[in-house]
Amino acid sequence: MRLLLVEDEEGFAEALCTSLKMEHYIVDWAADGEEGLDLALDDVYDAIILDIMLPKMNGLEILKEVRKQGIHTPVLMLTAKSELNDKITGLDMGADDYLTKPFHREELYARLRALTRRQTTDSNAPTEIAFGDIYMLQGGNELFCRTTGNSMVLNGKEYQLMEYLLRNGGQIISREQIIEKVWGYDTDAEYNNVEVYISFLRKKLGFLKSETSIQTVRKLGYKLQ
Ligand code: CA
Repeated sequence: MRLLLVEDEEGFAEALCTSLKMEHYIVDWAADGEEGLDLALDDVYDAIILDIMLPKMNGLEILKEVRKQGIHTPVLMLTAKSELNDKITGLDMGADDYLTKPFHREELYARLRALTRRQTTDSNAPTEIAFGDIYMLQGGNELFCRTTGNSMVLNGKEYQLMEYLLRNGGQIISREQIIEKVWGYDTDAEYNNVEVYISFLRKKLGFLKSETSIQTVRKLGYKLQ
């Protein structure tokens, strides 16, 4: 799960990023409204945690623009007690939930879980993500093969990478896209990390005796075939 946190209070944002990462979320942090909007419009996030009072552009303006552009990423607004009216405005404008500061971390995790679940149900997205003879079930950690009936457990990064490949079907995805999607912008991951994980996945496809394979497309990236 990849999150965008738009929050200008540096100490608070850093603490939040650290605890979210410990919950295995990938988190990108934007410290002002313009940067927040810019990242939100990339449309690569599973949820956005959006503060209201922000420099350059406030949270409500960001929300309005994001929804105007047809992006339906679930948005959790953070409000201070004094901003109760903003909270109502936010929900009117298409925020999915709100949390009043200060809040307990567990409360935030629960809201995020609910939001990302709701997104799956609302869009009637299939719970199965498939290509060729392989598939994964959303929320699970196993890769299944229809041809042989075998399955294997994938670890965190393997899971995210395979999910990304499956979601792109037979289309080529570049190493840059993989790093961005699986490791996040704010990362030291390099191309060889991608290669290492691709080789792990190839081994697992081999164990499954699947007919589907990951092809390297020279200079462009990878695709399932
Ligand atoms: Ca603020």
